[in-house]
Amino acid sequence: MDSRIVGILGGGQLGRMLVEAAHRLNLQTIVLDAPKSPAKQINALHAHIDGSFSDPKAILKLAEECDVLTVEIEHVDTEVLEELEASSKVEVQPSWKTIRTIQDKYVQKSHLASSGVATAESLLVESNTSAHLENIGRKFGYPYMLKARTLAYDGRGNYVVSGPESISPALEVLKDRPLYAEKWASFSKELAVMVVRRRDGVCISYPTVETIHEENICKLVYAPAAVSGVIREKARKLAEKAVGSLWGAGVFGVEMFLLEDGELLINELAPRPHNSGHYTIEACPTSQYEAHLRAILDLPLPTHSTSLTTPSTHAIMLNLLGPSYNTVARKALEVKGATVHLYGKGEAKKARKMGHVTVVAGSMAEAEYQIQPLINAADAEKM
Ligand code: ATP
Ligand code: MG
Ligand code: MG
Repeated sequence: MDSRIVGILGGGQLGRMLVEAAHRLNLQTIVLDAPKSPAKQINALHAHIDGSFSDPKAILKLAEECDVLTVEIEHVDTEVLEELEASSKVEVQPSWKTIRTIQDKYVQKSHLASSGVATAESLLVESNTSAHLENIGRKFGYPYMLKARTLAYDGRGNYVVSGPESISPALEVLKDRPLYAEKWASFSKELAVMVVRRRDGVCISYPTVETIHEENICKLVYAPAAVSGVIREKARKLAEKAVGSLWGAGVFGVEMFLLEDGELLINELAPRPHNSGHYTIEACPTSQYEAHLRAILDLPLPTHSTSLTTPSTHAIMLNLLGPSYNTVARKALEVKGATVHLYGKGEAKKARKMGHVTVVAGSMAEAEYQIQPLINAADAEKM
């Protein structure tokens, strides 16, 4: 298909599913992460690079072997990516500028606000002290969300400040990290859109989906979202505006809040494949992983690639979290329309994403009927 080698910074489950998509098109990939990480386990074509995606030396070593560098995680060293992009030894997609803007959530929020994209109102936490956080409480009211600016994922880095009394426990958890605060978004639903930014700068989108989070971590994704056509379209436009303000090619996860009055606010962006887009593997002609590869390599990606396979295609994705994952996965083998993905991770610690199941059906009611026993099993194991 193409002789260029793609270097992937990060070898977790997203990298693993990128490698799966690459294999089908006979595209070559090399992964930088710890030995035996999920993406490395399924690709023996090349020697991979052992090391950290935040280590400039390891990234330079990867760059030596590749034509295009991309990421499956945003917490990477962008200084070296900036040097590499300037040197034109290797392409970096999306641009280091995009990754650097997104990896600091406060910088990301400021960038979106200055690009005219609606987001939850944010304030920089200038000093991690009770007095300062009380000040923010007076401005925002309670509850408000305290967030780590960097290295946040799966809600690890967020703390709900429900009143002045929760400031001191919040600081106990987050005091050593750079912080910002967000006004509470009283949402009726959380929506997400996967947007692909092609090399020609054109953005195309997958359908608007609904995401359900439990304890700050994504549990379920419903595709398409059960909202009006007007809201779906508004979500798509907002997501494309947000991604259009960035640089370079690739797939982007856009998370947003739908407020009671129909207003939409961006929660955050991811410059890579995203949990809310796993369902595209079974429910769309081209998955988010293949779309990412096609976008960064400038391979054809027509607009019809990202729609649901048929007008009646409906999908629900359930994340398999923590110790119960294997019990639920085995049960899913008996469910009509279900596809199981396990990631090959080590210890199944509480709330760790170990795999997922996607159920595809001809209606949402049918998909809900099929997946309910799996949700019940996951909930029962949690107790
Ligand atoms: P991930 O990257 O895994 O999506 P994260 O650690 O970056 O997660 P966020 O996306 O910032 O965390 O927040 C996780 C969840 O917390 C959101 O999906 C939402 O349910 C809730 N949340 C975040 N910000 C707010 C807010 N301002 N108001 C209300 N709820 C919020
Ligand atoms: Mg995040
Ligand atoms: Mg999030």
